[in-house]
Amino acid sequence: MKGNFPVAKWNGVQTPFYFYDIELLKRTLATIKAETDKYGFCQHYAIKANANPRILKLIASYGFGADCVSGGEVQAALDAGFDPHKIVFAGVGKADWEINLALKGDIFCFNVESIPELHIINELAAAQNKTARVEFRVNPNVDAHTHAKITTGLSENKFGINLSQIAAVLKDAQTLSNIEVVGLHFHIGSQITDMSAFKDLCIKANDLQNQLEAQGFTFANMNFGGGLGIDYHHPNHIDMPDFASYFAVFNQLVERREGQAIHFELGRAVVGQCGSLISSVLYVKEGEVKKFAILDAGFTELIRPAMYDAYHRIENLSSDLPQETYDVVGPICESSDVFGKDVSLNQVKRGDLIALRSAGAYGEVMSSTYNLRKLPAAYFSEDFE
Ligand SMILES: *Cc1c(COP(=O)(O)O)cnc(C)c1O
Repeated sequence: MKGNFPVAKWNGVQTPFYFYDIELLKRTLATIKAETDKYGFCQHYAIKANANPRILKLIASYGFGADCVSGGEVQAALDAGFDPHKIVFAGVGKADWEINLALKGDIFCFNVESIPELHIINELAAAQNKTARVEFRVNPNVDAHTHAKITTGLSENKFGINLSQIAAVLKDAQTLSNIEVVGLHFHIGSQITDMSAFKDLCIKANDLQNQLEAQGFTFANMNFGGGLGIDYHHPNHIDMPDFASYFAVFNQLVERREGQAIHFELGRAVVGQCGSLISSVLYVKEGEVKKFAILDAGFTELIRPAMYDAYHRIENLSSDLPQETYDVVGPICESSDVFGKDVSLNQVKRGDLIALRSAGAYGEVMSSTYNLRKLPAAYFSEDFE
């Protein structure tokens, strides 16, 4: 089974390009909204997954907040119409100009990852005569059972403040006149499909909250980050993660305090399945032991396979001929520029359109001009109706 694409209407459209299924994105957003409204949870879309301005505007229109990891993303969130009071700003290395921009924009809060950062935010807030709201990002030492390069919640990772140090940091914050602590923040990694990792997170968060309360600290907000994975192997059958089960875990396990707000920062789960990278076959090359389908897209358009050994389902949209086995590769002058090895595709010829599926998250936004290539264009299903 292949995806449903308006191939006939793509005549003359230059490949490679990103194609976004807006109907699927809207359905995904509506599902998240329904599941979070059930429990009064707040969702901040993690902009780094896909910062295409049209996508940001659509997501903002559903009333979601934004999770940003740079000044550029804070600006993009403000430009797209996200409510500043629903913008959160994380990252281990926030530069002064980025902090100033966020203070000026009156964002909801900074997710602070170290004491030195806290002190700089306090100074810059004082200079603007403002109080900065902060949550502390806690490193809960939870194994997310995901790829090492996208695990963030282990003690060995650079992210967050270790459990043993958090009470001291909270005490330190009390001495700062332009800081208001509004909560705790966690984000344990990405592409997490094993719900037990989220269950572990809930239990660790409960323990920590109990401990800190005993020392007199209370929190208006608990932010559990993002990380929910998508099914890269079955984009046609499972076009959305099981949001109902995901949010139910937190509803069931988090010992929520009276009036406390619970926040999430999903990125990949929101946009991952709605995007595909569409590419043309330039050449079919018969090697000694392999057949190569050489595409006009490479890791400059989609770096996940090269960077994280990620799998993307690959479909030949132009052929119904019997399947053959190909290594599907790009044109970049690097051996890592391979989208898939020993991929079964309907027999391929020059000019065939190839879809790399589930590329809506960490795809377009990570594209580069390496080899002086052009950045890919983006089209939306509604452009071809
Ligand atoms: C990347 C990131 C997210 C989103 O992660 P996904 O796996 O795309 O859901 C959320 N919060 C923070 C702090 C992040 O860095």
